[in-house]
Amino acid sequence: MSKFKIIVAEKIDKAGIEHLQKYADVDVCIGISREELLEKIGNYDALVVRSATKVNAELLNKGKNLKIIGRAGNGIDNISIEEATKRGVIVANTPESNIISACEISIGLMFAGARSICYASNETKSGKWIRNQLEGTELYGKTLGIVGLGRIGGLMATRMKAMGMNLIAYDPYITDERFEKYGVTKKETLEELCKEADIITVHTPKTEETKGMISYKQIELMKTGVHLVNGARGGIIDEKAAYEGLKSGKIASFGLDVHETEPRTESPLYELDNVTVTPHIGANTYDAQRNVGLNIAEQILNGLNGEIVENAVNLPTMNRDELKEAKPYLNLLEKIGKMYYQYNKEIVKAIEVSYWGDAAKQYTEMMDIAFLKGFLSTVMSEKVNYINAKIFAEKNGIALNIQKNKEEYKNHSNAIKIKYILKDKEVVFLGNIASNGEPKLLEIDGYEVDVKLTEYLLLINNNDVPGVIGKVGTIVGNENINVATMTVARKQKGDKALMILNVDDYIADEVLEKFNEYLEINFAKLLKL
Ligand code: NAD
Repeated sequence: MSKFKIIVAEKIDKAGIEHLQKYADVDVCIGISREELLEKIGNYDALVVRSATKVNAELLNKGKNLKIIGRAGNGIDNISIEEATKRGVIVANTPESNIISACEISIGLMFAGARSICYASNETKSGKWIRNQLEGTELYGKTLGIVGLGRIGGLMATRMKAMGMNLIAYDPYITDERFEKYGVTKKETLEELCKEADIITVHTPKTEETKGMISYKQIELMKTGVHLVNGARGGIIDEKAAYEGLKSGKIASFGLDVHETEPRTESPLYELDNVTVTPHIGANTYDAQRNVGLNIAEQILNGLNGEIVENAVNLPTMNRDELKEAKPYLNLLEKIGKMYYQYNKEIVKAIEVSYWGDAAKQYTEMMDIAFLKGFLSTVMSEKVNYINAKIFAEKNGIALNIQKNKEEYKNHSNAIKIKYILKDKEVVFLGNIASNGEPKLLEIDGYEVDVKLTEYLLLINNNDVPGVIGKVGTIVGNENINVATMTVARKQKGDKALMILNVDDYIADEVLEKFNEYLEINFAKLLKL
């Protein structure tokens, strides 16, 4: 198979390029003109951009082979998600690659404010020894108010807990479990947080609601001597209100990496000794840039290979932990999905998917897609991935009827049942994740089994009469087929029986024919999962 072709149109760290080059043909065309890009894009399977390249209908129409667009960085304003989604093109970004760096700049600003580090440094360098005027405050034992307990707010909580701070947070959009997870006391209102905190750090996005959310009224409520930090977006803390608070002595210090307008070299704030400023360098670390490059490269390769793309913006989102937890289920669903058309060719009229126990508690939207991906992959000539699976399903009129049951299934802590409704019967597949994390098949078309879902399953349906196992064994031995395990099941005595053999390798059709030569054998099929 020829290698995938990737064009990198804007600069990413060389570690990312090197990673891509291991598996694909990569053209690095930094600063390529729009005309040239439009001309060439049809040759590529993937495109890597930052914020300058406009990925719109015009470009996507020409990029007939595009499967994934990687945005090395966070914002995606330059990419038309709707146009990409319509064409089944995945768009992925790297929102988590710089969060540690961003968190650490806020921590730095917090220390700078509590101990006047930058002011002290400037004064000392300018020949003044003002030791007696520089009485700072310890962070230990103080109350830190975190506004926005998302990714960076969460990192902040973990780190500052280790510093011995009491943590309170205000974030009306997250669950109580998230507060508990980080050992943070939930504040129902921003005002409550303002009254109780010794240091306040903001970590929300900038929205209509958060713009200026800390202003005169909130500062008024704060303790005298409060320290403020804004490492999120300029203007979440109203700069004018902060300036007045600093001048009046209400606010002891203000550290900001982000500014109401950027770039900017002047502001009344910059004239105050108790203000520490940096020019939006939160993400400017070697590590963050390297992570961005590597992360986008990994996602591009996953996308091209039809695997899960961690930060696909046009797919249901899951964070790293959720994804880790759901991964065995995604694997199970894809494998179960792959079984149907290899087992039975009959057209499916409707599909019911029931999640039980732990499976029902997962993020099942992605699991539905994993199932569709597996189900369609055996009958589509095009490669099915996590984004086009849903599109193909819709085109083919396949809608899933989803049911979630929080209780256990029989004695299994988790289970997933797929019921295919055909013209005049139903076929059920039931699977689960065993305690060791392995995907298992528990039922197939009325036969209760307990089979590991390995790459190749040899299914032999036979009349329930003596001697069949021996005949199967003879062919398996003669044809050098290595069998890992074998399961035998029947619905009732004398009825049709089913053998499932986990075999190590592919078995050619001519060999399968040999099983079918025995009258007792109704069919022999190899399922590739
Ligand atoms: P995130 O989306 O993971 O978390 C944001 C949190 O804010 C969410 O939990 C959300 O519920 C909460 N929130 C939203 N509106 C709120 C409101 N009105 N009141 C209280 N909470 C609210 O985002 P993140 O990745 O943690 O990023 C946080 C901020 O840091 C963003 O503004 C981002 O742009 C900024 N950032 C800055 C730099 C830098 O260079 N300084 C680098 C990276 C990120």
